[in-house]
Amino acid sequence: MIQHADIAMYQAKQKGRDNYQLFEPEMAYVASKQYSYERDMRKNLASDQFYLVYQPKINHQENSVVGFEALMRWHHPDEGMISPSEFIAIADESNLIIQLGEKVINDSLRQLQYWRKQGLVLVPIAVNLSGKHLVSDVLIPFIRQQLALFDISGEYLEIEITEGVLVHDIDRCIRVMAEIKSLNIRISVDDFGTGYSSLSYLKRLPLDVLKIDKTFVQECDVTEEDRQICATIINLAKNLDLGIVAEGVETLSQLELLKAMGCDIFQGYFFHKPLSVENAGALLSSRPLSAA
Ligand code: C2E
Ligand code: CA
Ligand code: CA
Repeated sequence: MIQHADIAMYQAKQKGRDNYQLFEPEMAYVASKQYSYERDMRKNLASDQFYLVYQPKINHQENSVVGFEALMRWHHPDEGMISPSEFIAIADESNLIIQLGEKVINDSLRQLQYWRKQGLVLVPIAVNLSGKHLVSDVLIPFIRQQLALFDISGEYLEIEITEGVLVHDIDRCIRVMAEIKSLNIRISVDDFGTGYSSLSYLKRLPLDVLKIDKTFVQECDVTEEDRQICATIINLAKNLDLGIVAEGVETLSQLELLKAMGCDIFQGYFFHKPLSVENAGALLSSRPLSAA
């Protein structure tokens, strides 16, 4: 009974706290899967089951790669590839998300150091961090230590956080972000436009970039509403002197529309899917010199 109560509590927490859930038998199946994923993650996070892929960010005008976004992959020995939206949500329930974030930072900086040793001209790598990690006490000391360890300057690291993170403890966010900025690390707001937060945070926080959520980008050449939302976000960013990245660009017509609206940095399958580390390195080494 206690086990079932625990499962129902877990579900209630997942539904955003402040509610209750009655135990249903099918919850047990979902929960046991989550438990086993959590256990497997804890055990294998440091193994090669977990690795990063790198999706290029493209400056279309200059035809150059201006950065990568590091995205975590989990190749489970029995279940095959597990989607990050699934395992990140489970990790976010516990301090696993901090271990995962630290792994992403560590792997990204190690990769930059390796590419530099190979003589490649570096571009920044953006890492996705959970809100829990952002407001934790361990983030800033860890980043400092890692930058020093790999001898990489903060300008080659970027942090992506979703809007939702910012509503919980804005004062704490302001303090942490000020420290992040003091290390020369850029901060992007991910999935911009999908949160429910007030826009006033945009002037209170030291942000650098807004990333238009891919749901708007993917419909911008189909529905008038999405076109208007993209145009409004681009204008907002320009007026606030923020950079803008359109993510999830899949077609030429989306690209043309967004370019006409004034966006010049793009990410999406139209250019590249997330690349293996080898392919990302090959892309860096094939860059025209003018891009450096
Ligand atoms: P996100 O940060 O918004 O990442 C963009 C997602 O869109 C990635 O999915 C990427 O593969 C996908 N994508 C990129 N271009 C296109 C496109 O043209 N079309 C479509 N349909 N999709 C595109 P992915 O890798 O499955 O990651 C899903 C989410 O999981 C990410 O969304 C991010 O929120 C989270 N995530 C992934 N890796 C990490 C990580 O290392 N740490 C944390 N905290 N979250 C991560
Ligand atoms: Ca992201
Ligand atoms: Ca996103």
